[in-house]
Amino acid sequence: MTDPRRRIPAVDRLLASEAFSPLLEAAPRVLVVRATQWVQQELRSAIARGTERAAAVDDPAWYARRVAERLEALGRSSLRPAINATGVVLHTNLGRAPLGDAARAAVARVTASYSNLEYDVEAGRRGSRYDHCAGLLAELTGAEAALVVNNNAAAVVLALNTLADGLDAVISRGELVEIGGSFRVPEIMARSGARMVEVGATNRTHADDYAAALSNRTGVVLAVHRSNFRVTGFTADVPLAELVELAHARGVAVVNDLGSGLLVDPAALGLPATEPTAADALRSGADVVTMSGDKLLGGPQAGIVLGRADPVERMRRNPLCRALRVDKMTLAALEATLALYRDPERARRELPALRMLASTADELGDRAEAFVRSLREVGVAATAADGASAVGGGAFPDAELPTTLVLIATDDRSPEDVLAGLRAAEPPVVARIVDDRVALDLRTVFAGEEDALRAAVVEACGEGR
Ligand SMILES: *Cc1c(COP(=O)(O)O)cnc(C)c1O
Repeated sequence: MTDPRRRIPAVDRLLASEAFSPLLEAAPRVLVVRATQWVQQELRSAIARGTERAAAVDDPAWYARRVAERLEALGRSSLRPAINATGVVLHTNLGRAPLGDAARAAVARVTASYSNLEYDVEAGRRGSRYDHCAGLLAELTGAEAALVVNNNAAAVVLALNTLADGLDAVISRGELVEIGGSFRVPEIMARSGARMVEVGATNRTHADDYAAALSNRTGVVLAVHRSNFRVTGFTADVPLAELVELAHARGVAVVNDLGSGLLVDPAALGLPATEPTAADALRSGADVVTMSGDKLLGGPQAGIVLGRADPVERMRRNPLCRALRVDKMTLAALEATLALYRDPERARRELPALRMLASTADELGDRAEAFVRSLREVGVAATAADGASAVGGGAFPDAELPTTLVLIATDDRSPEDVLAGLRAAEPPVVARIVDDRVALDLRTVFAGEEDALRAAVVEACGEGR
């Protein structure tokens, strides 16, 4: 028997075939050629692996279908919108906080032309990008000075490198945390040039433990907020204000990695009072406070540094700051996001992440019931059931936000199968499995996405019905 790979038609023959003429009408010839070569190569490899039957190998229509799929895939952006039906509001894998209208408009406005990013318009000379959000941040949090870098991990590295390069950085063993899989305090500390000095125990650290570790080699005391877990039982921590008093008495600065970046009273979002706001941390006397822009603040990815004028200015002058610098799109989005906080009620209304967090159980129940009805109308067996959403982004780990889930009955298909079908939709839908059933949580679904979500469910359940 001859090698089936030798029966693969030449590109020219395929392009001249009737099956390819619609493709050549829709896309430039070079692209069709490249896609055809790709399909041929995939087929050769599949035959070599023994995973493809070679029956249709000389049928141009077979190639045309695959080339059409390839062209469609090439035309799709790698980074594209997705529907978050998980109910996890700050879903790190799905881009954390969606931007509000004001932020998106600001990015469009500032990037479609030149801007005063590093230009002092009044003086007619070079300015600094770091001036743009600094005043607003100081106004909103009571900080003496502020600095914005690329993300919170960068802010922590910059703080440690500035204040403790070659010196001791003292930290409680209860705060050597890992966040989001790749931010680990001991590793970040090592890269910053600071020497980590651990004090206390995993569950209990006392003021005396810190006091004993402070010396003339100490550059900084680092307090890391336990964002994504809780320690319960036989525990002890030193409150930030007490830690500050102790460190300052020895002339040592305190850096507080706050993480989530809460700017409003959590009660206004229906959340427990377990998470400190940036203003709380500053009032406790921390010299430098760092946080993310895209967690509870509801803005773009950014690392926000707040604190006393002297350490913040030293961080700004550190050459490392240049490597961690923030982009103009981020500054535009952040400034517009922060401006909403001048009226906290407006921030709660207009920032999607805050609005989703603040959605009430009643609203979500009504939406879920209506969605279930609309699914039944198109033949999908769905029911509503009580459930819980999550804050995500490593914030409020034990807060359970009451919601109503839309459960899909998938008949003879496995829920994993239906989840895969939902991910194959355009835009892809990410959902979860609850009690062996596909569950949609509308808390994180924008009202304008409901039609696309319904179409994706119908499509994904299609074969099973
Ligand atoms: C999320 C978080 C970080 C990392 O912030 P990024 O903005 O993702 O770099 C660091 N520390 C704490 C306490 C956090 O919660």
